[in-house]
Amino acid sequence: MRTVSGPTDHVIVVGAGLGGLSCALHLAGTGRRVTVLEREATPGGRAGRMTRSEYSFDTGPTVLTMPELVEEALGAVGERLADWVDLVPLDPAYRAWFPDGSSLDVVADPIRMAEEVSRACGPREADGYLRYVEYVRKLWRVQRADFIERNLDSPRQLLNANLLRLVAMGGFGRLQPRVDRYLRDPRTRRIFSFQAMYAGLAPHRALALYAVISYLDTVAGVWFPRGGMHAVPQAMAGAAEKHGVDIRYGTTVERVEVRHGRAAGVHTDGGEYLPADVLVLNPDLPVAYRDLLPGEVPRRVRRLRHSPSCFVLHVGSRTGYDHIAHHNIHFGRAWRRSFDEVITQGRLMSDPSLLLTNPTRTDPAMAPAGGHVYYLLAPVPNLAHRGLRWRSGLAERYADELTGVLRQRGYPGFGAADEVREIVTPEDWLDAGMAAGTPFAAAHTFAQTGPLRPATLHPGLSNVVFTGSGTQPGVGIPMVLISGRLAAARITG
Ligand SMILES: Cc1cc2nc3c(=O)[nH]c(=O)nc-3n(C[C@H](O)[C@H](O)[C@H](O)COP(=O)(O)OP(=O)(O)OC[C@H]3O[C@@H](n4cnc5c(N)ncnc54)[C@H](O)[C@@H]3O)c2cc1C
Repeated sequence: MRTVSGPTDHVIVVGAGLGGLSCALHLAGTGRRVTVLEREATPGGRAGRMTRSEYSFDTGPTVLTMPELVEEALGAVGERLADWVDLVPLDPAYRAWFPDGSSLDVVADPIRMAEEVSRACGPREADGYLRYVEYVRKLWRVQRADFIERNLDSPRQLLNANLLRLVAMGGFGRLQPRVDRYLRDPRTRRIFSFQAMYAGLAPHRALALYAVISYLDTVAGVWFPRGGMHAVPQAMAGAAEKHGVDIRYGTTVERVEVRHGRAAGVHTDGGEYLPADVLVLNPDLPVAYRDLLPGEVPRRVRRLRHSPSCFVLHVGSRTGYDHIAHHNIHFGRAWRRSFDEVITQGRLMSDPSLLLTNPTRTDPAMAPAGGHVYYLLAPVPNLAHRGLRWRSGLAERYADELTGVLRQRGYPGFGAADEVREIVTPEDWLDAGMAAGTPFAAAHTFAQTGPLRPATLHPGLSNVVFTGSGTQPGVGIPMVLISGRLAAARITG
């Protein structure tokens, strides 16, 4: 592994997203002096919180997997997760709803899940499910240490026994046909392959090795921090400060000062210059290159293919629905067509599949008495596809359309008496500093995976390190927490 050159006593981390906080904690644990500069007034970045009329909304991630990685980051400074966050395991992890009116609960316990699959689809499908669980468990074991939790400078580093195992397991084939080998019912096929979207790809295009994502949520389980997902970055920032990390909120870094081929420090919007031995950059990687680092954005970074984006509708309302779970996936009839529309054609889904999260089911304190919080997420094209003008009325129209879809799918009166209604579109993600207007970074295509994804160490500046979803290993809370640890390892060796 390549490491930074020169002294490493004082590190400035730009950005208190989950990647930046993870890195700061791992560095503080090794005795480095760490300063975190964050432009917002709170930590968490995409894992933010919005409060309106006593309703509290998570602005980004809602599905928390692998909380042991949060535990590990806190553990770097000797803190325990249980002392900071009240984690509730979600049972079911998701409730899946299908166009024929049926539903299926996804529970992390394979024995109970096999019973549920058997109930809905028959015993043969349950056998297939259990064999699938074995497959994804093994896939995770094979990939974890050698391909995911490791800084990769060159594809040569992958030449090991686990690569052969991964090839033998069909990891470099396509995801959907791999899932289809185990499962026959269109409903279970969807439940165990839709996660490709988290990697920014359609299941028929994603590599089968990304079936590990379905291992993380459907087998390893989903949790919810009481108070909302934002409790996680709050805890990480609190623990970091307790152990000496200096977090300065409301401080925007305007540019990195480079002298003699090294980063010397940063200039802030307050006109301050702060010198550092090493810089860690947590803003979206292409934007960090474009806005903070001097010189041309490298061609490779300019040509990155970005994941699709999302449209989020936040609703605070007095209307409740007893039949739903914390997370509800509403599949449309269309499957492959929906991915093609959003990812390839740059159009809105004609028959949408949606995620509806109802956090007040688990934590009623997130709303005023008698109130409910709803978070509706629809995948939509990123802004590399031109043509959708969200601020010319489309945002409101699409919110109305999705509200209508929900009413037909079991939510009578949805949207009729909202006390809060907030819409977030790709143009908002763009304004928040995310390349191509997507919060899901570069897609996990073969050419943007593992050692082919931008590395955590800057290729030219020997004391600049990246962390977050634009770098290795990739997108999502578990991956950015790992990327923080990998970034720290570039500094500490
Ligand atoms: C709507 C949505 C739903 C999601 N759902 C899930 C999910 O269910 N499960 C899951 O695992 N993941 C999910 N994700 C993805 C996950 O949230 C991200 O991958 C992860 O939070 C990204 O963290 P990060 O550290 O890379 O970046 P960020 O969170 O973007 O952190 C970057 C930080 O840098 C700061 N910053 C930027 N520029 C500057 C500057 N110039 N100076 C100072 N500070 C600066 C920003 O304010 C921010 O705090 C979702 C994301 C979104 C938006």
